[in-house]
Amino acid sequence: MRRFRSTDTAPERALRSALHHRGLRFRLHRQVPGMARRTIDVAFPSAKVAVFVDGCYWHGCPIHGKTPQRNSAWWSEKLRRNVDRDKETNQALLAAGWAVVRAWEHEDADRLAEEIGALVRSRTKTGRGSSTGSC
Ligand SMILES: [Zn+2]
Repeated sequence: MRRFRSTDTAPERALRSALHHRGLRFRLHRQVPGMARRTIDVAFPSAKVAVFVDGCYWHGCPIHGKTPQRNSAWWSEKLRRNVDRDKETNQALLAAGWAVVRAWEHEDADRLAEEIGALVRSRTKTGRGSSTGSC
């Protein structure tokens, strides 16, 4: 059976390089805990942050995820299954103590990397001291 999600899409690569620029270390295509056949697009194992870059088309983005006119019954079933699967994956990760970030492929890689970086930092407390406010 053909897989719809490519493992190396352009939006994913853009995000990865934006994360790299911020000095963030991550793992690619890590297995979802307890789900042998699913992988996390970009994983931060020590912070337990999982990032998925979802294709607008296949995952029903509110902006670009329009149902095609032809075959719309087939399509909405397919889409529903993808969305269900995403939810299932989220739940498995949350149950294992991970934070899940779901990004649409149309989102700005730099802005995403910024958000992800903040999340990762807030979840990794590697003795950076506790500075309170002042720069
Ligand atoms: Zn979109």
